[in-house]
Amino acid sequence: MIPNGTEYLSADPSGIAQAADLLRQGLLVAFPTETVYGLGGDARNGEAVASIYAAKGRPSFNPLIAHVASAEAARRFVQWSGQAEKLADAFWPGPLSLVLPLRDGHGVSSLVTAGLDTLAVRVPAHPMARALLEAVDGPVAAPSANPSGRISPTTAEHVREGLDGRIAAILDDGPCGVGLESTIVGLAGEPALLRPGGVVLEDIEAVLGTELHHHKSGDLLTAPGQLQSHYAPDASVRLNAQSRQGDEVLLGFGPVECDENLSAEGNLIEAAANLFAALHKLDGSGRPIAVTPIPENGLGAAINDRLRRAAAPRDS
Ligand code: AMP
Ligand code: MG
Repeated sequence: MIPNGTEYLSADPSGIAQAADLLRQGLLVAFPTETVYGLGGDARNGEAVASIYAAKGRPSFNPLIAHVASAEAARRFVQWSGQAEKLADAFWPGPLSLVLPLRDGHGVSSLVTAGLDTLAVRVPAHPMARALLEAVDGPVAAPSANPSGRISPTTAEHVREGLDGRIAAILDDGPCGVGLESTIVGLAGEPALLRPGGVVLEDIEAVLGTELHHHKSGDLLTAPGQLQSHYAPDASVRLNAQSRQGDEVLLGFGPVECDENLSAEGNLIEAAANLFAALHKLDGSGRPIAVTPIPENGLGAAINDRLRRAAAPRDS
């Protein structure tokens, strides 16, 4: 809960400056983009990103799109390429997200990428979004500003209905967009259409001069069986462990003796922010991972969902 309630900021220079300030403090601000209202949090601040999930009540962690003010800003976080340059020239600012390998020293929270070594970046076209991103001068993670499972918000009133009291502020600039999401193109390997959206496939292929790999069946990322695109540790994972067995390393939650603690205080936001980094670190030990019980309430549901997937038997 936000102590002083959700603030309503008008879409003028003073509202934008206040919104940028709140984001820099690690608080959440909903803002208009040309697709839908986004729920923004500082992508470098794991606890800010965790609170996006908490505010939306999302039951699982998916990678989020990092919004930036310009292609130049994007290049601070990802390894740029000729193909990225062509698509950015043609479609940015606009409803196109590019997935590219992270670059060294990127500083982006692993909760934004869900532990992957790639990042989705986008330069939105909406003037308020651009002004805000310029003022923040950093990457802003922003899924749609609605509670999980509810319809995407295209007005500040929709955002208020869903998230009032759960976020610091709403930057209100009237109705935006048509609720169509950004097209997502993967450029970390062979160019691939990861999600259809506001920029059409044929136009992207024309600019690249090559066909995109894609699945005719629709959303590749949310389709069942596509979970291999998400980070999973190499090591086996055992949940609800009370203590180590054999040569296991122990991932803890709360006041327990362990190798890595998600949150010694038992704070679920802190635990979510630490989750992927802790898994990577323990995975690096080459030993099996045991995890002490984590409550199922609030963000615990999403943390447990991710851990259950990590613990599930592998196909290969
Ligand atoms: P949205 O809900 O509009 O914020 O869109 C997020 C979508 O982008 C999800 O479907 C993600 O799976 C996808 N996405 C974000 N980052 C990546 C990434 N690094 N690799 C693949 N897909 C990504
Ligand atoms: Mg959404």
